[in-house]
Amino acid sequence: MPVHDLHTHSNISDGILDPESLVSRAKAKGVDVIALTDHDSVAGLARARASARDLGLQLVNGIEFSGVWGKLGVHIVGLDIDPGHPVILEAVAHQAEIRELRAQKIGERLARVGVTGALEGARAIAGDSVIGRPHFARYLVETGAVTGMHQAFKKYLGAGKPGDVKNLWPDMSTAIDWIRAAGGVAVLAHPEKYKLTRTRLRALVADFCEAGGRALEVVSGHQESGVTDCLARLATERGLYASCGSDFHVPDQPWQELGAFGTMPAACKPVWQLWAPAQ
Ligand code: AMP
Ligand code: MN
Ligand code: MN
Ligand code: MN
Repeated sequence: MPVHDLHTHSNISDGILDPESLVSRAKAKGVDVIALTDHDSVAGLARARASARDLGLQLVNGIEFSGVWGKLGVHIVGLDIDPGHPVILEAVAHQAEIRELRAQKIGERLARVGVTGALEGARAIAGDSVIGRPHFARYLVETGAVTGMHQAFKKYLGAGKPGDVKNLWPDMSTAIDWIRAAGGVAVLAHPEKYKLTRTRLRALVADFCEAGGRALEVVSGHQESGVTDCLARLATERGLYASCGSDFHVPDQPWQELGAFGTMPAACKPVWQLWAPAQ
């Protein structure tokens, strides 16, 4: 069975590697099929595709949209989308505007708790990349306000902290609509990361299905096997397909390496059945 890593980031958004280096690292790590799923951007796909062709990997066109479910920020991965579809082009333009507005708000909020120059600092670090909280986090680390990325999120940027601005994002159902319009499969990303009770997770998955979502990211990076089993059951019960991916951002973090994650439980229907010929 070919190794599928269907959730990865390049420096087009908040990853470190450029699209070509990402694909070549994936090759070195034994990945056969890679989806580049940058946050709210499709700008890296053409470069990743060229690299994948040269190295003999299959590239799946992907994206990871930010959205909300009620007050909770959620991520919806779109797989096998048409990146040139007008709906996607409009969606990424819309998300870019939100990210700009949000970055300003994050900067203002951090200033209120005594962190100066954060917007300018994060912008300088982001350069041409889609700006996000990790760029603010890197600024906090570089200026010595915190000791590391983890602390930056814990103290300033994570859920409920001053830099956590999420009310601007579209509803989860809008992101699903965009993906479907572009011929793609909507995947609920890393369900474990939302830290929901079982009941709330079920409610989220029910609404996700209702809105046209097709798959659950049953395996995300290094998660406990009990979590994988629980997600696999949830997917099966709901008739959802299962996806898997590392959510790779940065090299040499063993818990988030390309192609390095648990196996998908046998009862799952792999999401690639939706686009690959039956094997
Ligand atoms: P944003 O897209 O601006 O909402 O930022 C979300 C991104 O921040 C995620 O995709 C992760 O890459 C990163 N992130 C979230 N939590 C943490 C954390 N605790 N430590 C490091 N990075 C994180
Ligand atoms: Mn990220
Ligand atoms: Mn995510
Ligand atoms: Mn991601």
